[in-house]
Amino acid sequence: MSIRVQPDLRNELIKYGIGDWNACYHCGTCTAMCPLSEEGFLFPRKKIRLMQMGLKGPIESSVEPWLCYYCGDCTKTCPRDANPGELMMSLRRYLTSLYDWTGLSKKFYTSETWELGFILFFASLVVITFLFILPSFGIKFDTTLTAQGGVRVNSFAPIGIIEPFDWSMAFVVASLLISNIFRMYYKIIWKNSTTKVSLWVHIREFWLLIFNFAVQPKFSKCDDKKYWLSHWFLMSGYTIMFIVIVVFLKWFQTEEILPFYDPQRLLGYYATFGLLFGLGFAIIGRIIHKDIKFKFSHVSDWLFLAMLTGTVVTGILIHIFRINGMPMATYFSYIAHMAILVPMILIEVPFSKWSHLAYRPFAAYFHQLKKHAVPK
Ligand code: SF4
Ligand code: SF4
Repeated sequence: MSIRVQPDLRNELIKYGIGDWNACYHCGTCTAMCPLSEEGFLFPRKKIRLMQMGLKGPIESSVEPWLCYYCGDCTKTCPRDANPGELMMSLRRYLTSLYDWTGLSKKFYTSETWELGFILFFASLVVITFLFILPSFGIKFDTTLTAQGGVRVNSFAPIGIIEPFDWSMAFVVASLLISNIFRMYYKIIWKNSTTKVSLWVHIREFWLLIFNFAVQPKFSKCDDKKYWLSHWFLMSGYTIMFIVIVVFLKWFQTEEILPFYDPQRLLGYYATFGLLFGLGFAIIGRIIHKDIKFKFSHVSDWLFLAMLTGTVVTGILIHIFRINGMPMATYFSYIAHMAILVPMILIEVPFSKWSHLAYRPFAAYFHQLKKHAVPK
């Protein structure tokens, strides 16, 4: 395998938020502190060495940045303030842009104009659709109430239109993400590799993917268990909400006012609680600025938090206005909700912050495959 040095790698990485990584003098404290360090797995010091040497190839094929959950233990103890935890975070952004074949991920991570422009474009499309296009097809803001006193939300946003739109969006987003995961697999397992992994090992170790997605065991190794819990609530709340909206919308978007103990409402309440818990932890941590892992926020971190908070708050408003018989407030909250949700899903899931929900468990799976690789 030929390894080429790329002298301008440093300048490239700085665009993704990399700080003073040249300050590192390789004392090894971070490796000793990191809960993920194992024998033969010098983490995160080895990656810093690769960055300093401009070795793009070995960085591109590494899984380690994805195994780091940013507990911050390494940063707290670094005698040179090189901030190894933030370096791993920046590497994850860089790797996300390398996996993405469209080039949009790089644009979003390195240019606020691109990201904000994309958000505003799709938000405007949503607003125009609800205010002008749908009414021109006879779909009106119906202000009459159901016999129970609820809002006729399905006459304003008919399931027959919203559901196919949901599925189309999910199909586009899933196709982009899956194709990027194949590129990730190619870079980690295949490209320039002198080893191979049998099909049987792929099948045998597949459970790890599911396990890592559901439990996030690497994350739980960090000392701060509150962080793991908040992340788990955020992840489970978001996953439930995504599945319900895409797969079970007919069941979820009802006009009937169900009792609060109905499974549909309980599931919605759990997802809302999970999202608010995780968001509260991340936002308060960033505002207080005390905890090391929240000290350095990239623009993409704030945009993601702002959009997710906007989605949750407007979702809560829709629910309150709908069951209290307030049609116009429900409809405008619905438009605001969709105007934030649609660009958020289109940007965050395949190209930005939320893609790590898929990349992390796949990295743990690929890491295990590499352990069982044999010479070609
Ligand atoms: S603790 Fe700091 S200086 Fe020491 S190896 Fe890690 S990043 Fe480098
Ligand atoms: S942030 Fe935590 S998990 Fe990540 S490299 Fe540092 S010590 Fe290890």
